[in-house]
Amino acid sequence: MILNKRSKAPTPTPADTTYLFGPTPTTNKPIGQWGIEKKKDSDAIKVSLSDCLACSGCITSAETVLLEAQSIDEFKQQVAACAQSGGRRAVVVSIAPQSRASLAYAAGLSTLDAAKRLTGFFKAMGVARVYDTTAARDFSLLEAREEFVERFRASKAANDDQNNQNNQNSQTPNPLPVLASACPGWVCYAEKQSPAVLPHISHVKSPQQIMGTVVKRRVAAALGLDPGAVFHVAVMPCYDKKLEASREDFREGEGDGAPVPDVDCVLTTGEVAELLAGAFGVTVAEKDGYSSEAGGLLEGAGALARCDPAPLDGWLASLGTGVRPRTMADMDTDADMDDADVDASNDDEWVWGCDSKDGGGGSGGYLEHVFRYAAKTVFGVVVDGPLEYVVPRARNPDLKEVVLRDTDGVVLMKFAQAYGFRNIQNMVRKIKPTAHDIHLGGGRDGCGYDYVEIMACPSGCLNGGGQLPPPPALPAGTMLDPSAPMPATLGGMTAKELVDELETRYRWGGGTVEARAPDQSPEVAEAYREWVMGGVGSEGARALFHTRYHDRGAEAAAAAGGTVAIAAQLKLTSDW
Ligand code: SF4
Repeated sequence: MILNKRSKAPTPTPADTTYLFGPTPTTNKPIGQWGIEKKKDSDAIKVSLSDCLACSGCITSAETVLLEAQSIDEFKQQVAACAQSGGRRAVVVSIAPQSRASLAYAAGLSTLDAAKRLTGFFKAMGVARVYDTTAARDFSLLEAREEFVERFRASKAANDDQNNQNNQNSQTPNPLPVLASACPGWVCYAEKQSPAVLPHISHVKSPQQIMGTVVKRRVAAALGLDPGAVFHVAVMPCYDKKLEASREDFREGEGDGAPVPDVDCVLTTGEVAELLAGAFGVTVAEKDGYSSEAGGLLEGAGALARCDPAPLDGWLASLGTGVRPRTMADMDTDADMDDADVDASNDDEWVWGCDSKDGGGGSGGYLEHVFRYAAKTVFGVVVDGPLEYVVPRARNPDLKEVVLRDTDGVVLMKFAQAYGFRNIQNMVRKIKPTAHDIHLGGGRDGCGYDYVEIMACPSGCLNGGGQLPPPPALPAGTMLDPSAPMPATLGGMTAKELVDELETRYRWGGGTVEARAPDQSPEVAEAYREWVMGGVGSEGARALFHTRYHDRGAEAAAAAGGTVAIAAQLKLTSDW
């Protein structure tokens, strides 16, 4: 990573360096903020991805992490190289719906319009295909719900066995609670700080990495190219996704050549705003990315409104066409009442969105989808309407619980949504076996939950560190530019208010987003049939859509000369 000038630390005194890093090194080379060697004071400090400690200070901060291999410059170079390749190489872009919502809001566009203009912008640069990761999220949700049901049943069976036979050693290899795996900030933290919880983490890849698999295998073949000839760029709401894309588990061997990453480059929402601003010569204030246009309230992404729209690239762009699936009952919801700016001109086109009655926390709706499916599949209970969440501590709205009870009030399942590092740390503390538990040969009963949707960012992915910041307040007396789009607000905005606005774009998008359950997608069903060659949770699906985790401490110990026994424990593979 490269530390930019905003994150530059004061030069440590000799006493500081002795305190932090031991005696002063005998070499005369200067030492950077974290003991990293610099050539000169004016040089950028460089460390590799493997140096990341996954501490919460850096994990969600857009300020401190810029990765050389995943940058705007690299993207531009690859686009230029593909343009000169005579069709032998191609760039494919896939955009997260959270990023699209942020860009749409900044530019004052409906979600569908933003999707079309982003497609037009990237294609004008020379990108071959522009998709969105909603279809990949469908695969991820289907696999996650099936995995949960299997692990839940296995765990209950093991418990019954233990109760009936007093068999203290009866344990499942993948114990409850199942912890969601879509957030790389959380996964990275668990691998480096709390490897004891790794068996709890779902083995299903995140939407970004499933999209990588689809692009490098299915799309590349459709384009008549080898996976290595396709440069896949993901537009994501956080910098942690760059770390995720760089994992060795997400590379495929290609004959004798070097392994090919499923996602070659991740650009954050803010970096796309930079690209847009640069393309249209919009001057953007370094401080916060807002331009001098429209009274300084328009983010650089406002330039998106000047891009020509282009048709969306079919189902992998989450395009819906024909007759809108809305019913009168749908129209009678608060959502549609709020949605006063329905874009009627696009009534025969829309984009598919998250199948959630309450937005799914802006992070894909894992909890909600798994909860409804498990309630129906395991207990035969159909859960309609919004889930009845309970916030156990009023001052901590980022921890929410939902419970399924039988008619006698007995708890059948208990799920939680835990966002932000404070909640992650509390959750890990409750799940991690103590020395006493280990001595008794068992694990912890856990935190009392069966499933936890864990996300590193407070308020979830809509509030990711790579998203566009809230607009600043308009200085008194400012004249708005009449030729620029009207800014979304004149009076500034808090982060919470911005997340609420983004959720509106994410769920309804000015009337251009329709919710659809992943099992209602005919294209996803066709992909399982024709490409995966198996159903949800089948061997083929696990090979394509599942992953594994690593105890990074043990890995480092083995690399430093650890024993064969330690090395054998390095890879925590799935038994599911
Ligand atoms: S919760 Fe934050 S860190 Fe995690 S995937 Fe979402 S945006 Fe990224």
